[in-house]
Amino acid sequence: MFVKICGTTSEEDALLAVAMGAEALGFVFAPSPRQMRPQDVADIVKRLPPEIMTVGVFKDDVPERIVHIVRSTGLKGAQIHGSFSVEDAVSVRRAIFHTIVAFAAVDPRVEQAHDYEPYAVFLDGARSGAGQTFDWSLADRAVARPLARDRLALIGDAAHPVLPYLAQGAALAIEDAAILTRALADHADVPAALAAFSGARTARVRRVQKAARSNGRTYHAGGVVAFVRNAVMARLGPDGMRDRYAWLYGWTPPA
Ligand SMILES: Cc1cc2nc3c(=O)[nH]c(=O)nc-3n(C[C@H](O)[C@H](O)[C@H](O)COP(=O)(O)OP(=O)(O)OC[C@H]3O[C@@H](n4cnc5c(N)ncnc54)[C@H](O)[C@@H]3O)c2cc1C
Repeated sequence: MFVKICGTTSEEDALLAVAMGAEALGFVFAPSPRQMRPQDVADIVKRLPPEIMTVGVFKDDVPERIVHIVRSTGLKGAQIHGSFSVEDAVSVRRAIFHTIVAFAAVDPRVEQAHDYEPYAVFLDGARSGAGQTFDWSLADRAVARPLARDRLALIGDAAHPVLPYLAQGAALAIEDAAILTRALADHADVPAALAAFSGARTARVRRVQKAARSNGRTYHAGGVVAFVRNAVMARLGPDGMRDRYAWLYGWTPPA
């Protein structure tokens, strides 16, 4: 695991964090009770072992100022928060290789994180630096593509997190395990077995993920949509609701 201790304000804390095994230290230049002056950070950075990754933390700052502070203090990287554009992020990244692009976990820009050309992406709580944990059970992302490569396969939440509105996360993980076991028994060649596993699972896990997202939108709807939803559910009744998911609950492992 890579550990970065952020909000460092003194040489004593920096050295203690390093002694305790931190790989990286963050110094905040954004408005904060832990905000640092560039000169003070430069003095601390000089005294740290060279292998420690030192990162300046910025929020809504212009690229020129970010790059200037990182270079003049001897920091190795920048972590940018706030309302930066793709152009801002790319401009910082081109000047500072270790540029960490931070998004609130609920920020729709996460979907396009790749466009920001980050060295790494940092997923923050809803308000950066507020110390509030995001509800990770609501984390959502696309199904890994492919699910397996060479001798490595992903299963369960690591491969395909599903929102909780269909209660299928564990069920899919168990299905994965069953299909993976079967594929390994059927193919002497491990990469071929894993490719067969990936081929057998991708469409189904995508379908379940999509259905869970759709339920999330429907269950949280208000106004007219909620009215229609309630009417449809009442009309379907328990059996009708179950039958809509015959494809899901009626699934059996391929023979
Ligand atoms: C409140 C709640 C209700 C849910 N209800 C349902 C439900 O009704 N039906 C359903 O199907 N699903 C449900 N789920 C989802 C389900 O719990 C998950 O989808 C399922 O546990 C995923 O299994 P997994 O093995 O992929 O991951 P996990 O169960 O998260 O297991 C991953 C394991 O890996 C370990 N680990 C992580 N990193 C490392 C590391 N670096 N080295 C070693 N070990 C590591 C973790 O400690 C953990 O033990 C629910 C989830 C929540 C939070």
